[in-house]
Amino acid sequence: MAQPVIADLVIRNIGELLTMKGVDDPVVAPTVGDLGIIKRGEVAVKDRKILYVGTKDGGSYVVGPQTMIIDAENKVVCPGFVDSHTHAIFAGTREDEFLMRQQGKSYAEIQAVGGGIVKTVRATRMASEEKLRDSLKRNIFKLSRYGSTTAEIKSGYGLNTEEEIKLLRVIKEVALETDILIVPTLLGAHVVPPEYVARRHKYVELVARDMIPMVHENHLAIFVDVYVDEGAFTIEEARGILTAARDHDMPRKLHADEMADDHCAELAAEMGCVSADHLIWTSEKGMKAMAKEGVVATLMPGAVLSLGRTKFADARAFIEHGVPVALATDYNPGTCMCPNMLLIMALGCLHMKMTAEEVIVAATINGAAAVGRGTQTGSLREGKDADLLVLDIDTYKEIPYRFGENFVRYVVAGGGVIKAPKVFKKKYFQES
Ligand SMILES: [Zn+2]
Repeated sequence: MAQPVIADLVIRNIGELLTMKGVDDPVVAPTVGDLGIIKRGEVAVKDRKILYVGTKDGGSYVVGPQTMIIDAENKVVCPGFVDSHTHAIFAGTREDEFLMRQQGKSYAEIQAVGGGIVKTVRATRMASEEKLRDSLKRNIFKLSRYGSTTAEIKSGYGLNTEEEIKLLRVIKEVALETDILIVPTLLGAHVVPPEYVARRHKYVELVARDMIPMVHENHLAIFVDVYVDEGAFTIEEARGILTAARDHDMPRKLHADEMADDHCAELAAEMGCVSADHLIWTSEKGMKAMAKEGVVATLMPGAVLSLGRTKFADARAFIEHGVPVALATDYNPGTCMCPNMLLIMALGCLHMKMTAEEVIVAATINGAAAVGRGTQTGSLREGKDADLLVLDIDTYKEIPYRFGENFVRYVVAGGGVIKAPKVFKKKYFQES
C-alpha cells in the first residue's frame, strides 16, 4: 500500500470555502452555484500544488511535524486574485497630474508642462536595472498584500527595442524570485515615443519587425498588447502589430475603446485576442463579436475613478451578450495608482452593477483566463497551483460591502505563505 502523503500546509476550519468548482474556463454569468462553496472545508498543499480541497476530514493526506497549520477560524477561503492588467514596472510618480486633473486641467495642458506617459518613459529610461528591480518588487508586494497571487505586468515605458527588452528582462528576473505568478506582456506599442512622432510608421515597423521577433526569440514575454487611442495607435497600426504577434504565435491583448468607440472590440475578435481591456465605449456590435470569439472583457473601474470620470464600462451588457468579464487594477503611475483588487471588486458592484458572485469570478478564474492561465490558477482543485487567500470575513458577500478595508489575513501563493498575521509568523518562522 502506498504511504499516505504528508502535507506541507493545511488550512483548517474554513467556514466558507470558495472553489469556483475547480473549473479552468471562464464563466460568463456566474451565480452562487458557480462559486462551488463548501461549508466546513479544508485545503491541503504539497509541493506548491493543491493536494486536497473538500470537506473537513475528507482528505487522505496526513499531517507531519513540519506541516504548517493555518486555522481559518470559520472565515472565508477563496482562490488568490488574478490581476490580469498592470503596468507595474516604471520609475517616478505623477501625483501632480492627478491633482491637475481634479482642478479640471486637460491632458494637453498636462503634457504642456512635461507630464503624461512620456514623463514616465523619461524617468524609466534613466533608471538603472537595479532601481527598476527594487521598485517592481515593491509594487508586486503591494499587489499581493491585497490578495493578488498572479499579476500580468506590461512593459511599455521603454519605447525602443533596447529599453523595452531591459524592462522585460527585469520582469523575468523578479518573476523567478517571487512566489507570485507573473505573466509578462510586451507593450512596445504603448504610445509613439517623441523621437518618432514625425515618422510614426517607422515606429510601428520597429515594434512589428524588431521588438516582437526579438522578444519572442528570447522568451521575454507571453503576450503582445497594443494601446489603441487618439493619442496612441490607430486601428490599422494595431492590426499590423497584432498580425506580427500572431505570425510569431504570440497571444494577444488590446487596450480597447477606452476614450471612444474605436471599434477595437471588433479588432480584438478579428485578431483572436485573449482579452480586450477597458472597453468603456464598446458598442453592442463589438460585444457580440467578442462573445463569438470568446474574448475576455477586462474591465478596470479603478482607472475611471482615478481619472475622476463617471462613465464606467457596461459590465451588465457584456455579461448579457455572453462575454466573460474579468476585473483588474490597471496599476500604473498615470491613471491608477491603486493595487487593491478588493476595492476594484467593490467598484465593480457599486459602479458597474455586477453581483458579488460576478466580481469574485471576475477577480479569479476569469482573470486567469484573461492571462491564459486557467488550467494553472484561478480556482481550487487538486493539482492546480496552491494560490489562495484566507479572508477575515464570514461570507464572500462582505467583499464589496467592506470596501476600503484590507481583510486579507493570509496569502498563500505558489504554496508559500507570503502574508500572515504576526503570531503565525512567530510560530513558524521564529520572527519577532
Ligand atoms: Zn493599461
